[in-house]
Amino acid sequence: MGKLCYIIRRKLKNIPLPPMENVIIVGSGCAGLTAAIYTARANLSPLVIEGTQPGGQLTLTTSVENFPGFPHGIEGPDLTQRMRMQAGRFGARFEYGMLEDFEAFDQIQRVKIDGTWRESRALIIASGASAKWLDLEQERQLIGHGLTSCATCDGAFYKDAPVAVIGGGDSACEEALFLTRFCSIVHLVHRRETLRASHIMAKRTLAHPKIQPVWNSTVQRYLQDESGMMRAIRILNTTSGAQKELEVKCVFIAIGHTPNTAPFKNKLELDKAGYIVPKRGTQTSIPGVFAAGDVVDPTYRQAITAAGQGCSAAMDVERWLARSIN
Ligand code: NAP
Repeated sequence: MGKLCYIIRRKLKNIPLPPMENVIIVGSGCAGLTAAIYTARANLSPLVIEGTQPGGQLTLTTSVENFPGFPHGIEGPDLTQRMRMQAGRFGARFEYGMLEDFEAFDQIQRVKIDGTWRESRALIIASGASAKWLDLEQERQLIGHGLTSCATCDGAFYKDAPVAVIGGGDSACEEALFLTRFCSIVHLVHRRETLRASHIMAKRTLAHPKIQPVWNSTVQRYLQDESGMMRAIRILNTTSGAQKELEVKCVFIAIGHTPNTAPFKNKLELDKAGYIVPKRGTQTSIPGVFAAGDVVDPTYRQAITAAGQGCSAAMDVERWLARSIN
């Protein structure tokens, strides 16, 4: 009845109806592409909206050494390109575009992509999360050349080298502790003189002989060597006003992530930090809307966990469509 009213309303307004898709997948990182492979193999002909950064956060990393099946590692962009080809082989369709708005109407999911509304029976949100950066000069160019937001991805490249982690939360502590396995020294640069991290994490971090806290300090500039790689950072002590250079081969930014959920605010249940709150499996607070990957996961944030959730979301969609059509 609701759907009928909706169609009549649209007809009266003389607006042509867009084709009804089985499933639209918003996002083309590991979660979205895995969901695309599974829904495509289930013959659902998914439409993948690729976003402004096709391939997601993996495209910002260099070699991925912890994705199972690649004993010698694989370049992040190469991995996502392979997933994309795999999904395409089974009939997934891809469109560039940015999600601007969302509404759900009686089991019809509507997403506004670059000004055009698209409709589907089911929606998988895999729009990821964006690492926060310091917004300093040369930042974009240095990513992958001694600047990263992922110690698990890139830490092993800095064996016996001095590095810096920026931040004072659980992520910064976790990254710093992880990096002690490889690096000669880990400078933990924090803008205050107490860590935000949980007590146990802070205690463990500060007790580690390889971790050197640099309190009340902010990064002013990245300094590059002649080949454009990170050489040092210039930091400012916000209490004394003194500046100094720290020689580091890599800077790990760990000042938090922002889930890409702005279009879902006040429409789907989100937690305080903006992450989607799953209800049952990958199902969100709206029936027919599912979520996978970093947009729903503030804890693990790995390519392989995102891929796993993408698979789960695809299977949830398949079952949901079978139930709602019958
Ligand atoms: P977070 O708790 O928000 O901490 C961000 C840190 O970065 C803070 O210390 C903050 O400083 C600093 N910061 C923010 N913006 C900055 C800027 N522009 N310049 C310099 N420093 C800046 O983020 P998170 O560490 O990613 O943690 C997010 C959530 O995940 C938390 O709830 C955390 O407990 C959880 N988490 C848990 C684990 C675990 O349990 N193993 C691991 C990772 C994350 P201030 O302190 O001055 O604000």
